[in-house]
Amino acid sequence: MGHRCRAAGALGSAARVPRKGNHRVCMICGEPPEVCGPLSTRGLCEQDAKARMDENNAQLRAHRGPFFERWRIRGIASYGGTVPALDSGAGDPHTR
Ligand SMILES: [Zn+2]
Repeated sequence: MGHRCRAAGALGSAARVPRKGNHRVCMICGEPPEVCGPLSTRGLCEQDAKARMDENNAQLRAHRGPFFERWRIRGIASYGGTVPALDSGAGDPHTR
């Protein structure tokens, strides 16, 4: 319906995503590619990209954390449904 470009533009401006290949040093360890290896498009060296992926996977398995929240909301939205409240033993003390 033509909303895709608008959403992408909003995300891009909000996060100030650098252009591809714009990173000079790793965003996590701060080392240049000469030291820590080629950087990903997100500005992470291979080691830190892997560490972040491991953290992501751990959160998906543990069903908690910002990575999981993003994945959960996006996954449910992709089914065309609404995101239910976290009220089934998710452990948020503020819901009680
Ligand atoms: Zn790094």
